[in-house]
Amino acid sequence: NSDMILYANFVLVNFETRQRYIVHDMLGQGTFGQVAKCWVPETDHFVAVKIIKNHPAYYQQGLAEVSILSLLNNKFDPDDKHNIVRMLDYFVFRHHLCIAFEMLGPNLFELIKSHKYNGFPLNLVQMFSKQILRALIVIKDAGIIHCDLKPENILVSTSMKAAEIKVIDFGSACLEQQTIYSYIQSRYYRSPEVLLGCPYTTAIDMWSFGCIVAELFLGIPLFPGASEFDILRRMIDTLGAQPPDDLLRKANNRSKFFKQVGSIYRMEDDEICKRSSSTFQFLTEEEYEARESKKPVIGKKYYSYVKLEDIVVNYPYKTNLPEEISKENRTRLALVDFLRGLVQFDPEKRWSPLQASFHPFVTGEPFLCPYRPPQQTPQIPVIRTVAVNHNPVEGHWV
Ligand code: ATP
Ligand code: MG
Ligand code: MG
Repeated sequence: NSDMILYANFVLVNFETRQRYIVHDMLGQGTFGQVAKCWVPETDHFVAVKIIKNHPAYYQQGLAEVSILSLLNNKFDPDDKHNIVRMLDYFVFRHHLCIAFEMLGPNLFELIKSHKYNGFPLNLVQMFSKQILRALIVIKDAGIIHCDLKPENILVSTSMKAAEIKVIDFGSACLEQQTIYSYIQSRYYRSPEVLLGCPYTTAIDMWSFGCIVAELFLGIPLFPGASEFDILRRMIDTLGAQPPDDLLRKANNRSKFFKQVGSIYRMEDDEICKRSSSTFQFLTEEEYEARESKKPVIGKKYYSYVKLEDIVVNYPYKTNLPEEISKENRTRLALVDFLRGLVQFDPEKRWSPLQASFHPFVTGEPFLCPYRPPQQTPQIPVIRTVAVNHNPVEGHWV
C-alpha cells in the first residue's frame, strides 16, 4: 500500500521550515491518500493535512493541486473573499507530498444527510448558491476547471461566520487550455459533454453546480444515474429534450448512446423521441445493453422520469402557513428558471458563474419573468502553463 501509516501523535514535519504537524485524528480517505486533522503546537491551531499516496501519478497530481491552489489563493483571491479553501503549507515527508489546509467543518453531503435527505429551506439554498458562485467566478477567471464539484467537496467553515462554505479538492482540477483527461467528474455531477466525450470547458463546473443547487433543495441528487446510460436517460426526461445535434456531432461516445436515423422523423413509444426531429436517436435500454454486452436484454423497461418543473414545484412543502406557501412557490419558480440556465445541454448557452450570479434567485430580487443573462464579454484566450515554481525536496531526519 502506498498510503502512509498514521496514528494519533504521529508527527509530520516540513524540514525546510521545521514546522511540525501532530496527527490528532483522520478526516477523510480517498483514492489520492488521506486527510488528517493535525495540531500545530506553536499556534495551538488545528489544520487539515492531505497526505498524498507515495506514487508518481498521485505525486504529480498533488503538485498540480498545489500550483492551482497557490494561483487561486495568492493571485486571484488574496483577501480570502471567494469561498475557496486556503492552502497553508506544502512539503514532502517520507516521499509523501503533504498539503496543509485551513481546518474546515463537515461537507455538504454530511449536512444533507443530517437533515435526513429532506433538503434545505430555499433561503439557505440561495446563500450556499451565492457563495459557490463567488468561488466559481474566480476559478473561471483563472482559466481553471475544478472538474470534481460535488457536495462532498464543499465544506462548511468552522469560523463564527454564519453558514460560510468553501470549495475544496482541486486534486482533479486542470487548466482550460490543458484538458487532458476525458474520464472526469463524479457521475451524478458529470456534464453531458463529458459523458458524450466532447471537448469541454469551464462550463462543466456550471453543470455540476446546477446539480448541487437542485440537490440542496431536494435533499437527493437530481440525476442519480446507476450508469452513464441511466444518467443520460434521466437528463433527457428531466430536461424534456435530448442533447442538440451540434453537441452529438462532436461526441466521441455518441454511438454508445445514439443511433443515426438521418433526418427521418421517427414515431416511437418514447415521448421525447416523438417530439424529436434530431438526426440522432437515443437508444432504448435494450439496445444499449445489447451493444454493451453483445447479447440482447429482454423485458427491461425505462423508468419514467419527471420533468424538472414538476420535480421542483411539486416537492412537498416545508411549511403549512398559507402566506409562506405562496412566497415559497414564487421562489420555487425562480429556482426552476435558475436551474434551467445551469443544467442545459448546450455548454455554450449554459450560464457562466458571473451571468448566474445576477439571477433573481441569487440576488433575492422578485422573480417576474424568465431571466435573460447579460452578454458575456468575449474572452481573449490566454495560453498559460501551470508552473510549479517550487519542487519540494524531501529533507532528512536530524
Ligand atoms: P475525492 O476522492 O473526492 O477526489 P480527495 O480524495 O481528493 O477527494 P479531498 O476531497 O481533498 O480529497 O478530501 C477528502 C475529504 O477530507 C473531504 O471530503 C473532507 O471530508 C475532508 N477534508 C478535506 N479537506 C478538509 C479541510 N480543510 N477541513 C476539514 N476536512 C477536510
Ligand atoms: Mg474530494
Ligand atoms: Mg479529489
